[in-house]
Amino acid sequence: MTRAIVIGGGIAGCSTAFALAKRGIAVTLIERHEKQAQEASGSPLAMLYPKINIKPSPANILALQGFSFTFDLLKKLPNSGNYFNTCGQIQLAFNAREQAKQAALVNQSETQYLKFQLLNTDEASAIAGVPLKTGGLYLPQAGWVKPQSLCEALCSSPLISVVTSTEALSIEKQDEVWRVSVANQQRLNVDKCEAEIVVICNAKDIKQFHQCASAAITPVRGQLNWFKSTAESEKIKTIICSDHHVSPAVDGWHCVGTSYAPNDLRAETSPADTQQNLNALHKVAPDIYKHIDLESVQARVGWRSQTLDYMPLAGQLLDEEKLRKNPPRYNANSASLPWLSGLYVNAGHGSKGMITAPLSGELIAGLAADSHLVTSPQLASKLNPSRFLLRELGLKQLANSLFAA
Ligand SMILES: Cc1cc2nc3c(=O)[nH]c(=O)nc-3n(C[C@H](O)[C@H](O)[C@H](O)COP(=O)(O)OP(=O)(O)OC[C@H]3O[C@@H](n4cnc5c(N)ncnc54)[C@H](O)[C@@H]3O)c2cc1C
Repeated sequence: MTRAIVIGGGIAGCSTAFALAKRGIAVTLIERHEKQAQEASGSPLAMLYPKINIKPSPANILALQGFSFTFDLLKKLPNSGNYFNTCGQIQLAFNAREQAKQAALVNQSETQYLKFQLLNTDEASAIAGVPLKTGGLYLPQAGWVKPQSLCEALCSSPLISVVTSTEALSIEKQDEVWRVSVANQQRLNVDKCEAEIVVICNAKDIKQFHQCASAAITPVRGQLNWFKSTAESEKIKTIICSDHHVSPAVDGWHCVGTSYAPNDLRAETSPADTQQNLNALHKVAPDIYKHIDLESVQARVGWRSQTLDYMPLAGQLLDEEKLRKNPPRYNANSASLPWLSGLYVNAGHGSKGMITAPLSGELIAGLAADSHLVTSPQLASKLNPSRFLLRELGLKQLANSLFAA
């Protein structure tokens, strides 16, 4: 039986393990914390909606396909109603630019199946359940998920062994098999350290492995707050977004977020960020803000992993040393490139990992199990984790056509 090792137990690692196990591959998932989803994927609640730009782009295609893939996945997982809900989302038209964008989006052919509806202030307030200051764009299919429960559900296959409290240190190939060394080797049987496939899913720390040295990832600090619901706030029925968002009450709590600070590594929560999140709530729904119990407000900090082009890194790696020593021609055949056979990355999911990571995991599992592409060749090329290295070597055309027919 083919074996795989997945490094990292956030949404990227867990959904990749799920996609590999679905294809009959035995997976060992290595996570340094005591359980899955303790870092970026550790928010109590994550919002599920695609962010679409007016101009058609690979990012739009990824957002739309990823959104639909995550929802199909959630609908198929047993008992997912316990941790997932389709409550809809209203993006408020909070300024003229947003208003123009929304008018364009309803008529965009790419988004036709999304059932977007433009709402005036009264309609938006009726759907949201609370008085709003403006109308906006309503997406009835949007929803929320509890990421920790999702990650646990994704790892429930008997083909997946989750090894926690264990840090992967390095990955090397020996006799055609990848070998992962870990900090506390006694926690991992020798057979669990070796596999034909390794998928690096450790988010902002991927550079720890020399095979990912050219990956350009920026950590972006984000603080989320949550507060106890009140009789007034329980009336919120949908996610309401401006440049921040507030969720409906889930188990008696609302989430409000999220701050955005590139390269800020401060781990402690910040009262200024809390105030910024609450100010956004005040702007969106002043009646709710008036009634919240400020004593109940809690906070959590996490880091998004952001790439330079805002697209994730998902696919097989190229051998950086060989590429630099012997750069290929701009029109080289992709099959002739020095691929690191069996070594993949699923990382760099920025602010939208719940939408982009599961589709990326499926893409990788398809490639690793039977060289099957689950996205278009163009999108698979745009996601390849070695694209920045190829661009740096002046091989942009090659980077864009790695999967050209
Ligand atoms: C505050 C905040 C709010 C967000 N809100 C949303 C939202 O509403 N909707 C949405 O779609 N997205 C949201 N995001 C983005 C989303 O959370 C991320 O894109 C996603 O969680 C990234 O998942 P990941 O698996 O790549 O990373 P992570 O969840 O960080 O997982 C990486 C894992 O790798 C482990 N690891 C690292 N190095 C090693 C090693 N050497 N050995 C073993 N394990 C290792 C870590 O412990 C960690 O568990 C938010 C992000 C933040 C920070």
